[in-house]
Amino acid sequence: MRAVAVALTAALTLGAQASPSIPGGAERAYRALKDRVDGAQAMGVVRFMDADWRLAGNPGFNRSVDHISGLLRGAGLEPRVEEFPLRGKGWDYETGTVSFADSGEVLLSKARDRVSLCINSFSTDGEIEAPLVDVGAGRPADYEGKALKGAVVLGSAAAGSLWQQAVKQRGAIGVISTSIAAYIRPEDPSAFTAPDQQDVFQWGSVPYDETAKAFGFKASWRAASRMRERLKAGPLRVKVNVRSSFYDGPNRMVVAEIPGTIAPDQRIVMVAHIQEPGANDDGSGCGTLLALAIALQKAIAAKALPPPGRTLTFIWGDENRGSRAWLTAHPDQAKGVQYMFSLDMTGEDTSKTGGTFLIEKQADPSAVWPRPSDPHTAWGAGQVKASELKGSLLNDVHLAICLRRAKDTGWIVRTNPYEGGSDHTEFKSAGIPSLLNWHFTDRFYHTNLDRPDKTSPSEMVNVGVAVATSAYFLASADREDARAVTALLERAEADRLALEQRQDATAEILDAWRKWYAEARESVTALPVTR
Ligand SMILES: [Zn+2]
Repeated sequence: MRAVAVALTAALTLGAQASPSIPGGAERAYRALKDRVDGAQAMGVVRFMDADWRLAGNPGFNRSVDHISGLLRGAGLEPRVEEFPLRGKGWDYETGTVSFADSGEVLLSKARDRVSLCINSFSTDGEIEAPLVDVGAGRPADYEGKALKGAVVLGSAAAGSLWQQAVKQRGAIGVISTSIAAYIRPEDPSAFTAPDQQDVFQWGSVPYDETAKAFGFKASWRAASRMRERLKAGPLRVKVNVRSSFYDGPNRMVVAEIPGTIAPDQRIVMVAHIQEPGANDDGSGCGTLLALAIALQKAIAAKALPPPGRTLTFIWGDENRGSRAWLTAHPDQAKGVQYMFSLDMTGEDTSKTGGTFLIEKQADPSAVWPRPSDPHTAWGAGQVKASELKGSLLNDVHLAICLRRAKDTGWIVRTNPYEGGSDHTEFKSAGIPSLLNWHFTDRFYHTNLDRPDKTSPSEMVNVGVAVATSAYFLASADREDARAVTALLERAEADRLALEQRQDATAEILDAWRKWYAEARESVTALPVTR
């Protein structure tokens, strides 16, 4: 089933990659921008952000906010830093070490593992010593008959679940979890396919709880195996030292704009998120967005492009919460948003991470009815009802522009149906056509190994050029462009209906696509910029 789907997608992608054709206005924008997105500049942002575990309200997050706004200001854009109330607490840590009490052998530490301490872990009072107890998988029966009060509990259940069972229910002082998504590595070490699978782990969190004042760690297969090996020989004690800090807001975001000259109240919005510790997730989205914003600014300053008719808005913030705050704080501006692009995990060096570049499409019929030609990623399907679908030109225009870039560079471009989870979800909820630029599966997603060596400057340039071209085009299109977009949509509809015939679509699905494309063609009427 999966193999069939992949073959069909490849056929579709290759067919489309062979014949890119974009409207004249998009081609002019592409030529003005294609050599102006600076990959080294984007990579500089990735490296800067990689120094910190960014969480809204913490000093590392705020350093990224200040760094990005400083770079924008230096390039002649006029960024605003907007503040809104922080939900919960900001958090960071200085020390998070677990070692064997007898030998002193260090199992987990900030120096080695960087993100192994769970978010919301409280400080221990200096170095403390406690028994280590293994609950294996951490199913309810695994806790029975074990002395967990005052212990550190090791298990492969999620950190939050171990914390609930061991700390809240049974008085443990902390937990060590090895839970990891199957697409990062298999459970069974004999099935490992790369040496780094012994050392990889996914960072996590435990609930903020002022009464329990507990801690959690995430551990690699190697660290957990070492502990389990010693436990086989009998009872074992560990030393734990945690020094962490909590912060009260505010939550902050950077907003920069290139004002529209004809319809400034109409906007094309692009968003990348600052929080999380990863280089690709989402240092790369932040770096790509910065480099493309500056490329647009420079192309306009050099008169390679006229200023856009609509306003281009660039936002760097706290994923989803920042977008929601911006939409709520600026209801008039929110009403004028025409299209939105999310940039999350845009920099993957796919030779190391796996999965290709993906456009996660605005929800179309493939998000409602599973289609062999449109497989979901390992991230999983979102919940979309047929009644929610509203066709627009966004998916096909952005895909065509990405494929225009691919024609020049051999970039691999694929799409996936709407799944949701990043900033585009917030704009979707506000009724705004929006899509996500990302890469998946990334076998370092949310792990200790999502570092700058997994990030590719040229991949960021590809994404940056494509998003800048699409955004500028949507902000500047004229009537002739609109006619070209209509033709592009007619071709896309014919291709889609032919494909669906080949993959035995029901009448209901064919009708859903016809309705989608009728609405998409209708959306072209509002494309030319008018006062
Ligand atoms: Zn992300």
